[in-house]
Amino acid sequence: MEKRRPLIAGNWKMYKTNDKAVETAGKLSGLVSDIADVDIMIAPPFTALAPVSEAVKGGPIKVGGQDLFWKEEGAFTGEVSTAMLLSAGCQYVIIGHSERRQYFGESDKTVNKKIRAAIDTGLIPVMCVGESEKERDGKETFSVLDKQVGNGLKDFLLDDLDNLVIAYEPVWAIGTGKTATTEQAQEVHLFLRSFIEKNFGNVLAQSIRILYGGSVKPDNILELMNMPDIDGALVGGASLEAETFAKIVRFQK
Ligand code: PEP
Repeated sequence: MEKRRPLIAGNWKMYKTNDKAVETAGKLSGLVSDIADVDIMIAPPFTALAPVSEAVKGGPIKVGGQDLFWKEEGAFTGEVSTAMLLSAGCQYVIIGHSERRQYFGESDKTVNKKIRAAIDTGLIPVMCVGESEKERDGKETFSVLDKQVGNGLKDFLLDDLDNLVIAYEPVWAIGTGKTATTEQAQEVHLFLRSFIEKNFGNVLAQSIRILYGGSVKPDNILELMNMPDIDGALVGGASLEAETFAKIVRFQK
């Protein structure tokens, strides 16, 4: 069976004012303009979405939001809807990132509503899941993931999930320089694929893309991509610099 088409996604978090964001996006666009066999996404801060979308137009880079709110519109100060993301040029949206869960009260229930809103409006959701260090040490990794994915995808039907992307991001490996070993990552990716198979069938299990995230760098990307169930990466720190991220997109040291 052929592997799925890779997706390399960069999460810029709360970095870069608009001038810096456009500069990095423009540089990256030039560096990856010839790439046709890898999907590439960058998620700048909300304020920079529209100018970054403009800067990468016509090339292989697609743009994503870092979050959304599930309501169509209304008195929800500070929130951003799917229509707003779409109008700013987004095709993707990151949902349930561990920093949202840790600092902003995101729960499996809100993740579920956000995935529904993304799917209903044609945005590709990148659903983040992952265990903490304490949970891994307590041998709870699989039960935690079972709960996060089970609740996050509660009440979805197979037909809803064609475009869903899952990102496995062990919390202890995000921004820490610690990376899960390729074997640890592969073991969890296989577990997640089996979960999808059990709940939604083999066809989706074989086609769904499961990204790894947690201190991905040019040094470790190739080894990760060589694992059978790793279909790409969600990259934080190493996506902020165009040259470094371009190397990751090429699976090059
Ligand atoms: C992330 O924020 O999704 C992430 C994986 O960060 P980093 O690559 O910096 O660990």
